[in-house]
Amino acid sequence: MIIKNEHSAVSPYLKDASNFPGSSADAVVIPETTEELVAFLKDNDQPVTLSGARTGLTASGIPLSGLVVSLEKFRQLEGPDAQGKLRCGPAVRLREIQEHLKGSGWFYPPNPTEALASVGGTVATNASGSRSYKWGATRNYIEELEIVLVDGRRATVRRGQSTRDPLVFDDGSRIVFPEIGYTSPDCKNAAGFFVRPGMDWLDLFVGSDGTLCLFTRIQLKLLPDPADFLSGILFFKTEEACWDLVEALRSSDEEHIRPCALEYFDRYSLSRLKTEFPTLPSFAQAALFFEQDVPDEDAFDAFLESWYEFLESREVDLDASWFSQSPADLEKFHEFRHRVPLIINEENSRNNRMKMGTDMAVPDSRFQDMMRYYRATLEEAGMPYVVFGHIGDNHLHINLMPPANQRERALAVYDRLVTWILQNGGTVSAEHGIGKIKKDYYRRMVGAETLDQLIQIKRCFDPRGLLGQGNLF
Ligand SMILES: Cc1cc2nc3c(=O)[nH]c(=O)nc-3n(C[C@H](O)[C@H](O)[C@H](O)COP(=O)(O)OP(=O)(O)OC[C@H]3O[C@@H](n4cnc5c(N)ncnc54)[C@H](O)[C@@H]3O)c2cc1C
Repeated sequence: MIIKNEHSAVSPYLKDASNFPGSSADAVVIPETTEELVAFLKDNDQPVTLSGARTGLTASGIPLSGLVVSLEKFRQLEGPDAQGKLRCGPAVRLREIQEHLKGSGWFYPPNPTEALASVGGTVATNASGSRSYKWGATRNYIEELEIVLVDGRRATVRRGQSTRDPLVFDDGSRIVFPEIGYTSPDCKNAAGFFVRPGMDWLDLFVGSDGTLCLFTRIQLKLLPDPADFLSGILFFKTEEACWDLVEALRSSDEEHIRPCALEYFDRYSLSRLKTEFPTLPSFAQAALFFEQDVPDEDAFDAFLESWYEFLESREVDLDASWFSQSPADLEKFHEFRHRVPLIINEENSRNNRMKMGTDMAVPDSRFQDMMRYYRATLEEAGMPYVVFGHIGDNHLHINLMPPANQRERALAVYDRLVTWILQNGGTVSAEHGIGKIKKDYYRRMVGAETLDQLIQIKRCFDPRGLLGQGNLF
């Protein structure tokens, strides 16, 4: 086991993509095997924060004190087997999985924009991406987890093991799921513990924000690889034209119009992309990235024709829009999407500004109202902002980018947006989790009484409160 305690070796573990200030740790512990990890935890009584690839946006992998545990040596990758099961260590990056699966005939649908994230981190945050519009978030693809509790107990948890039965550990001890009245909202949601009557234990651990256990081995479920993707970036003269198209696509019953991704860019996102993508049309007030999976190659032209016909009658500038002609185009479009949060994060870092980004979603019925409320509120605020993201799921990321002397005002704007979202049946986090920076919003979302019930779950697994201190509660 490697233990690093010099400042220069610890400091890279004190920062993630949130720019959260106030992190601190005495040392970083890097076990090489599960046995080493277990032996260390059995003797440990200091706070432990588990670090993944530190691409998180809520500081949940960043320590406030005590020790960082990094499972960066857990990098095994086996499979896929004939049933499409892939076994991997938590430190394997998403990009490595994508590379590994090329030509295998199998496909791992969750595609968070940040492909450098570790599988362990994406399980802990139940990460999702552009294709979650069709295929859902990470939770749907977790078949088995080896978990280790912060006291060193260990268990293998499989799909189908219900929380109606106790969870049994290697030493014979058991945890019984506490009786609680709360049920997680029925929309895209990554805020806090997932709770449904009779759910599987796996569903509790996925999305637990580094607070319940450490994942040391992960088994993923894969899908058969689509033969191809039809993809494009559509440009609009007005924002409303784009919003209307999204609703039309969602309600279409045409068999070839079943997009797996619908991603939005407002005019401020586009103005930031213009330098790197100079052919971007200057009239564009909004853009929509779509992807349509094509199950077999012979069907490609039929899909293309249907999309063209569908779009011809809408207010989209087809001549100026971009359509993929090759795998290189597909990659370019993904890069176009990926660059927006990166440019914003770089801009924030340059200005020493903590990220102030929303991650909220509402049910479909509130979509147009939400878009109009966002625009009116943000324009009235009179400070720089950018809106982009998963418009198909009514899940947009608003980034407020105030000058240093307007931070308090920006927080007040954020607060107004939260109030509206909660009044309209939404969630304060649909994808990044709560971590350390959205706890107040989480409390508002679930209420004090429910929060007490959720803390009971945490106590079953970690009564001393050592793991992931400062996350969620
Ligand atoms: C440019 C950019 C774009 C992004 N786009 C998306 C997106 O589209 N969708 C999305 O969902 N997220 C997105 N994110 C956020 C981030 O990539 C995800 O939250 C990701 O899941 C974090 O993974 P990580 O390995 O970096 O984990 P970290 O940030 O290191 O940690 C995140 C959490 O996971 C826990 N953890 C890590 N490893 C383990 C383990 N082995 N066992 C138990 N807990 C563990 C940590 O303790 C922490 O609570 C983006 C981030 C950036 C910077």
